[in-house]
Amino acid sequence: MEAEQHFLQLVKEQLERVERLKNKPAAVNFKDQIVIGYCSGDGIGPIITDATIRVLQKLLADELESKKIVLKEIQGLTIENRLAKNMAVPDDVLAEIKTCDVLLKGPTTTPSGGSAKNIESANVTLRRELDLYANVRPVILRDEGIDWMFFRENTEGAYVLGSRGIEISDDLVFDFRVITAPGTERIARAAFKYARDNGKKRVTVVTKSNILKKTDGKFWSVCMEVAKEYPEIQVDEYFIDIMTAKLLDTAERASFEVFVLPNLYGDIITDEAAQIQGGVGTAGSANIGDRYAMFEAVHGSAPRLIELGLAEYANPSSLIKAAEIMLRHIGFIDKANKLATILGEANQKIKVTGNVADSKCLDITEYILANL
Ligand code: NAD
Repeated sequence: MEAEQHFLQLVKEQLERVERLKNKPAAVNFKDQIVIGYCSGDGIGPIITDATIRVLQKLLADELESKKIVLKEIQGLTIENRLAKNMAVPDDVLAEIKTCDVLLKGPTTTPSGGSAKNIESANVTLRRELDLYANVRPVILRDEGIDWMFFRENTEGAYVLGSRGIEISDDLVFDFRVITAPGTERIARAAFKYARDNGKKRVTVVTKSNILKKTDGKFWSVCMEVAKEYPEIQVDEYFIDIMTAKLLDTAERASFEVFVLPNLYGDIITDEAAQIQGGVGTAGSANIGDRYAMFEAVHGSAPRLIELGLAEYANPSSLIKAAEIMLRHIGFIDKANKLATILGEANQKIKVTGNVADSKCLDITEYILANL
């Protein structure tokens, strides 16, 4: 039966993937020259990318002049081009991206299921093709003493086979969810290592292992194995439903420090956390693998802002924050700290929310540029 063949093929591919994961490549060392590729994406992407590149050009003026850093624009990661080529990430775009050391990426649109023409999410494709397994998202709320770091597994869970479900009949459809031991081990290790390196005392594993006993059960047990190597760090398990509530519990939430979660829960809860911080427009993220890394806003292309003619009210802080995380990743810590300070000040003084009542993208960009 066709469905059986499809399922067997998925199992075969995932077993091969597990073997590849076990032979992990050596971590990259940056060379004398670092090439930062950037793609603007769709919707509000070009507006916030333009603002971020202006900030980087000023902040890194010396490094750009000496060619220690190169900023390379990569065209073609637009919904129009992707639909025309019927590819989530066209081959020539992916090849260009692979020539860069790191990628700064504007948000990209993914058509919803049921659209006439459909393609996979560019992000899911890039995360898989570049093996960017750790989605790292910081959320800070200084007034409340909140300093959260989320480690969302980026290449498995409900997403890796999200476009490979089976439609048995008009009445019966399946999607698949995959958790592997090596895939979980590397994200758990990244979270515990971050905790140790940054003096954090607690790692919270978020699952629904009471219901999804196989996949989430494996995620939890592998995290517990890794935790044994970090005896100074307290580890606990929260189920995703109560976790979403606990993030709203102002009496308790500041006690959480580092979170590690499968893909879907991480996707959902980091938007909630970003809203607590001041809106998705303030939140940046990193997608890190052993060879490549990609930095982006946590939000999407915001088509509603475009439709309402409010694109100029989009907050570029999300992508500027991503650029700050990127600078830290490539070793420019002083520049990252400087940008973090000014970005924090800018967001306290200038409110940009996507609403006409508040400021525009240009207002906060000019403030940052003037204070760099
Ligand atoms: P969205 O994140 O694009 O926007 C939701 C709402 O958040 C917007 O209507 C707006 O009110 C607000 N918002 C988002 N960014 C903002 C900013 N910078 N400043 C101010 N307000 C902002 O979510 P969506 O509407 O669910 O998704 C739109 C498209 O983006 C979809 O095609 C989706 O697949 C895609 N998407 C892409 C990424 C990515 O590229 N990493 C991530 C999520 C969604």
